[in-house]
Amino acid sequence: MTTLVETEERKALRSAVSALGRRYGRDYLARVAAEGRRPDELWAEAARLGYLGVNLPEEYGGGGGGIAELSIVLEELGAAGCPLLMMVVSPAICGTVISRFGTGEQKRAWLPGLADGTRTMAFGITEPDAGSNSHRITTTARRDGTDWIVTGRKVFVSGVDTADATLIVGRTGDARTGRLKPCLFIVPRDADGFGRRRIEMELHAPEKQFELTLDEVRLPAGALVGEEEDAGLLQLFAGLNPERIMTAAFAVGMGRHALARAVAYARERTVWKTPIGAHQAVAHPLAQAHIELELARLMTQKAAHLYDAGDDPGAGEAANMAKYAAAEACARAVDQSVHTLGGNGLTREFGLASLITASRVARIAPVSREMILNFVSHTTLGLPKSY
Ligand SMILES: Cc1cc2nc3c(=O)[nH]c(=O)nc-3n(C[C@H](O)[C@H](O)[C@H](O)COP(=O)(O)OP(=O)(O)OC[C@H]3O[C@@H](n4cnc5c(N)ncnc54)[C@H](O)[C@@H]3O)c2cc1C
Repeated sequence: MTTLVETEERKALRSAVSALGRRYGRDYLARVAAEGRRPDELWAEAARLGYLGVNLPEEYGGGGGGIAELSIVLEELGAAGCPLLMMVVSPAICGTVISRFGTGEQKRAWLPGLADGTRTMAFGITEPDAGSNSHRITTTARRDGTDWIVTGRKVFVSGVDTADATLIVGRTGDARTGRLKPCLFIVPRDADGFGRRRIEMELHAPEKQFELTLDEVRLPAGALVGEEEDAGLLQLFAGLNPERIMTAAFAVGMGRHALARAVAYARERTVWKTPIGAHQAVAHPLAQAHIELELARLMTQKAAHLYDAGDDPGAGEAANMAKYAAAEACARAVDQSVHTLGGNGLTREFGLASLITASRVARIAPVSREMILNFVSHTTLGLPKSY
C-alpha cells in the first residue's frame, strides 16, 4: 500500500460508511442535539457494522485494522453531516492505549465493549491551570496499600456523562528520583469522589464538555494502565497521535460537508443570468477550499500510515501537521460555504452557521494551532524556544 493512493478495501470502506452517514445526515444529528440526547442509533449501527472497532485487535472483537481505517470512518460520517465525536476518544485514544499497553485483564474488560460500541471511554488530560502546558498537570496519584488515591481537576473533557469510564492522565511520585511522572488511570463514571460539572458551550453537538474534580478517588491497583508505572509517557504518546489524526479526519469531514452544501447551492441559486457558481469570485474560493481539504487529507493519510506502521516519532510530526492543515482547511471551507449561501448561510434551516463555531474546535483541541507551530519550529526546524 502506498499512502498516496487508497487501496480498494479502503475505498470500499469509505463508500459503505458514506452510505450509512447519508441515511442519518445532518438533520439526524441536529435533532439529537436539540433533544439533548446521544446519537445512540447511529452509534449502534456503526458499531454493528464493525466501523467503530475497526482499529482494535480481532481477538477482542475489533476489525484488526488501524487508525487509517478508523479515520476514514470518522471523515465519511462527518462529510455526511453526522460525525461521532466520541470516536476520537473511545476507540482511537482509549482503545489504542489499552490494546497497546493495557494488562490482559484491562484488555478483556474493555476492548470487546469499545469494539462493539456497547461501552465508551472518555479521555481527560486538560487542566484549568495547565492548559496547553501539559507539563504543569497537577492531578496526582499516591499509593495506599495496593490502591491508588487520585486527586486533581480536569476541564473541557468530552462525553464524561455518557462514558462508562474516563481515562485520566495524572502523575505519580517516583520513589527513586522524587520527580512526578505521567500515568494513566481508568476512572469509572460513578467512582466516589469523581465529580463533574457541565460547561455550557456554544456548540450544537450531542457531546457535552465537563469540568471534573477528583477528590481522593480510591482506585484498585488494576485501574493503572499497564503493568508498570514507568511506561506512562509512552502510553500517553500512543494515545495522543491517534487523537490528532482523528481530529484531522473530523475537520476534513466537516469541511467537505460544508463545501458540498455550498457547491450544490451555487449550482442552483441564480440572481443574474447564470447560477452564482459561474462567478469566479464565488467559484474560486470553493475550488481553493476543496484543494486545501484534499491536501489536508493526504497528510492525514500519511500520519495514519506512519502510526499504523509503528513509527511513533514520524507519526508524531505528521499527525501534528495533518491536524494543523485540516483545522485550517476546515475553518476556511466552512467560512466560505456560509458566505456562499448569502443570508441563507445564517438561517437555522440551512444549518451551516453553527458550523462556524464547530469548525474552530479543531484549531483549539486537542492541541492548539500555535502549539503545533511551536512543535514544528522547535522539533522540525530546530529553532530556539521562547518558553
Ligand atoms: C469542544 C472541545 C472538546 C474538548 N474535549 C477534550 C477532552 O475530551 N479531553 C481533554 O482532556 N480536553 C478536551 N478539550 C480541551 C482542549 O484540548 C484544550 O482546550 C486545548 O488543549 C487548549 O488548552 P486551553 O483551552 O487551556 O488553552 P490555553 O493553553 O490557555 O491557550 C490559550 C491560547 O494561548 C495560546 N498559547 C498557549 N501557550 C502558547 C505558547 N507557548 N505559544 C503560543 N501560543 C500559546 C494557545 O494557542 C491558545 O490560542 C476540549 C476542548 C474543546 C473546545
